[in-house]
Amino acid sequence: MIPSILPTYSRAPLEFVKGEGSWLLTADGRRFLDLGAGIAVNALGHAHPALVKALTDQAEKLWHVSNLYQIPQQQALADRLVEHTFGDTVFFTNSGTESCELAVKMVRKYWYEKGDPERIEIVTFAGSFHGRSTAAIAAAGSEKMTKGFGPLMPGFTHLPWGDHDALRAAVTDRTAAILIEPVQGEGGIRPLPDQCLKGLRDLCDETGALLVLDEVQCGMGRTGKLFAHEWAGITPDIMMVAKGIGGGFPLGAVLATEDAASGMTAGTHGSTYGGNPLACAVGCAVMDHVADPGFLSQVNRVAGQLRQGLEGLVAAHPDVFEEVRGTGLMLGIKCKAPNADVVKAGYDNAVITVPAADNVIRLLPPLTLSADEAAEALSRLDKAAAQVGAA
Ligand SMILES: *Cc1c(COP(=O)(O)O)cnc(C)c1O
Repeated sequence: MIPSILPTYSRAPLEFVKGEGSWLLTADGRRFLDLGAGIAVNALGHAHPALVKALTDQAEKLWHVSNLYQIPQQQALADRLVEHTFGDTVFFTNSGTESCELAVKMVRKYWYEKGDPERIEIVTFAGSFHGRSTAAIAAAGSEKMTKGFGPLMPGFTHLPWGDHDALRAAVTDRTAAILIEPVQGEGGIRPLPDQCLKGLRDLCDETGALLVLDEVQCGMGRTGKLFAHEWAGITPDIMMVAKGIGGGFPLGAVLATEDAASGMTAGTHGSTYGGNPLACAVGCAVMDHVADPGFLSQVNRVAGQLRQGLEGLVAAHPDVFEEVRGTGLMLGIKCKAPNADVVKAGYDNAVITVPAADNVIRLLPPLTLSADEAAEALSRLDKAAAQVGAA
């Protein structure tokens, strides 16, 4: 008989009843060190007092009015995002998938309004993940996500990862946009080297194609800058955001330059919940912390410590681990042992990691992870690796 929850996930037999900072507690009192943060969502950890206050204060006043009216919390968050990024304008969504939908629509409308409605082709890359809607799975293109869901939305060209010749051949003055994650998350924590991101920007400038960055996972301080593309010193035309921006409350956004957004006039897009007062009150509180340079320096310090420790773990367990990948607090360990076994051994040692493609385990802890917690994480991962190695 089918379970009452549609069985699209294979879930670990773990049930948490409470979260405190970097820790998740079970009903029987076990404390797990959370290096998953709900897949890079709980940017400030669990039950951060500033977020609890923002949410409960707003909950007592007003939950929802719809976008037919002014929403001051939404205005405040949009202003903050515009102040701190390349973006001139913001649309709020409830998820990364919805941000992908709008990014694709915005690209198409841009070229339509420029008098070039046939210019629809968006170039994407192997190993990418942009969400689970029909546009998002067509964009990523992997068989695992698209099989059985055809016919797929047309208009996407899929290129291998890191093949410069294929890229040069594919991107022409007929290309509508390039869509890419600066650091692939689900694909196995694969950062795009800074010079490649610069190269993509140049290619877009040469051909007129729009550069669309998916920073749903790697954005909001995850890599030690507010947004990952800042490391390369470039700016996109359109950017997808979600996950960390709501700190655990469902919230996403699309940021765009004035030119890239120029086709999206009144009536061309909408969302009932997107940008509602609760989500935006929380989003403002998240931004207050994450956009603070002091906060980001602390992220970089702990990230350096964690990374150095992980290099040591790889050296100590060469039969289990192969290499460390990633940047900031978006780290991955490519495993030699099956990554599912390593994640499971982590559970046995009360430390949570997240599997990714390419036999990688992901470490995406709260950005508030302390130096002591990073040391504790390394010690627990060491035990987990020893357990896998001995098996
Ligand atoms: C998670 C993710 C998405 C999809 O976000 P949802 O909120 O699950 O819809 C899109 N792109 C990237 C890079 C992601 O990591």
